[in-house]
Amino acid sequence: MSRAFKQSAFFLVLEVLFLGGAIINLVKGDYLEMSGGLVIAAFFGIVHTARREKDARDTAALETLLGGETGETNRLHCCRCGSDARVSPRAYVVTYSLLLYTSMSPGAIRPICHRCRFRAGLPYSLFTLVAGWWGFPWGPILTVRALYRNFRGGVVLTENRPEVVVAAPPPPSSASEPAADKKSPETPKFDY
Ligand SMILES: [Zn+2]
Repeated sequence: MSRAFKQSAFFLVLEVLFLGGAIINLVKGDYLEMSGGLVIAAFFGIVHTARREKDARDTAALETLLGGETGETNRLHCCRCGSDARVSPRAYVVTYSLLLYTSMSPGAIRPICHRCRFRAGLPYSLFTLVAGWWGFPWGPILTVRALYRNFRGGVVLTENRPEVVVAAPPPPSSASEPAADKKSPETPKFDY
């Protein structure tokens, strides 16, 4: 089960809890408490939706990189230098924290070659260096872990690695594909 999915489910639970609290306060006639609960529930709803959309984007990116459902791998070109030697779909990890909350999640999946694998992760590592530490207790732990992962070349997704963990909502089809074979996309599993 991917960390991203666990987090989106976690935020859904919080949203439902605070909605329930708001309803209880409505019944009790405590309208101030009720509006507070609604605001917090709305906040968690937004976070939950954002996480799910990110899952869908990752899925779409992965399908493009790996050639979709056919099992046929596209010839990948490094998005930094254009080389086609030893190119893998890679994602780099970002950690940020606020007090008791720490998030660690992969960024966009892109084709990166072996030679570019360190430099491609630097923006993610720099952001993590600034924003990662400030949560207790997981901030420092996940900061070190993200930096370690990025300096080892990020998360590499091979054809065999992405596993079905959850059916994410289909990404909004903007232009390219005909809507004929709409299958529920699969969220890639990240191992970091
Ligand atoms: Zn390259």
